[in-house]
Amino acid sequence: MNQVLIIGAGGVGSVVAHKCAMMPEVFGEITLASRTLSKCDAIAAEVKYRTGREIATAQVDADDVAATAELIRQTGAKLVINVALPYQDLTIMDACLEAGADYLDTANYEPKDVAKFEYSWQWAYQEKFEQAGLCAQLGSGFDPGVTNVFTAWALKHHFDEIHTLDIIDVNGGDHGKAFATNFNPEINIREVTAPCRHFENGDFVETAPMSLHQSFVCPDGVGTFEIYRMYHEELESLVKHIPTIKRAQFWMSFSPNYLKHLEVLQNVGMTRIDSVSYQGVEIIPLQFLKAVLPNPGDLGVSTKGRTCIGNVITGIKDGQFKAIYIWNICDHEACFAEVGSQAISYTTGVPAMIGAKQVLAGSWRKPGVWNMEQQDPDLFMQDLNENGLPWSFVELTLEDAKMLKVI
Ligand code: NDP
Repeated sequence: MNQVLIIGAGGVGSVVAHKCAMMPEVFGEITLASRTLSKCDAIAAEVKYRTGREIATAQVDADDVAATAELIRQTGAKLVINVALPYQDLTIMDACLEAGADYLDTANYEPKDVAKFEYSWQWAYQEKFEQAGLCAQLGSGFDPGVTNVFTAWALKHHFDEIHTLDIIDVNGGDHGKAFATNFNPEINIREVTAPCRHFENGDFVETAPMSLHQSFVCPDGVGTFEIYRMYHEELESLVKHIPTIKRAQFWMSFSPNYLKHLEVLQNVGMTRIDSVSYQGVEIIPLQFLKAVLPNPGDLGVSTKGRTCIGNVITGIKDGQFKAIYIWNICDHEACFAEVGSQAISYTTGVPAMIGAKQVLAGSWRKPGVWNMEQQDPDLFMQDLNENGLPWSFVELTLEDAKMLKVI
């Protein structure tokens, strides 16, 4: 029997708990733990209602290594699925090492006081995990996560060499609120206000945030959206592990309304992450903003529309130029009907469950610290089709690939 411990009871944690509970043959005993126990209990009640399965709950502060290690021991967890915040990655990795459990997350480590995220901190655990005979699987969400696996699958089946990679993340959903973020507002706003970095000819090139954008027409009638080039963490690992890549870029759709609100919030200082003294209390404006914005986990009930996330990849196969687009479309309302969450939490939580399944089943279980593209993509791709995130692909012409024209 496989015991698993899920840490984090937000939008993503709820999806992971539901999807793991739907697969009792892989996830034998499930414990959901987080800082606020009542949130775990509420999710456990929903899981029981939808799947009939009981899951255990626990309170833990995952910044506390000893307490987290103790909980891992108590639950007998073989694997910890970390869907708390990126700030907790290193302490949960330390707790896994202390208690002898495998580790999986969906976002790379970020210090609380610097808006900077990179893999170096987690890659530094390679030797420790290797020596302990434990596996740490990094970035098993959608992007990073599925986008890395799409790239690995393309390399395995369609290319001898990949030369360019464009990851395009469109959220065509509408939640009906004036302004809200799709996942944790603090993490989301830190990400989209950071300088843009893309990879070109062997180096990352920095440009101003949101300075390059273009129109993108999604397949299957999802719609036409303005996509903005920005930095995203999977670029760092993908260009390291697939060294033939000459250019890698990440694009995300934003509505004019979202950008208008963000600009004002930035201009008035509400996205600052340094502390400010207010009536004798030290507060961090971005954390205060999170407290007044809608909770992303509550957006499911009102969100309509679809997401469309995929990769345009070009390269060489048998000496010839080749280009493909591979993508998934996910419907917000269908996700809500299935697990009570919107598609952003769903598209992150399902791959976390699938990655955890590969580790528990042994197909991805090797000692060390791994990014998704370092694993064999085939079983993961099959599981996407069977667990709510079906994908498609088409071949593109060189001209269309250059223009990011996929239909
Ligand atoms: P939420 O803010 O909704 O949930 C985070 C949860 O973590 C909350 O339950 C929170 O508890 C808990 N938590 C925070 N700090 C601690 C702590 N010290 N100890 C224990 N629990 C803690 O976030 P989301 O569910 O939206 O996102 C979860 C993760 O998924 C994030 O890391 C995010 O970056 C990642 N993500 C990845 C994506 C991908 O495609 N790869 C896409 C979207 C998200 P409390 O309620 O008490 O604050």
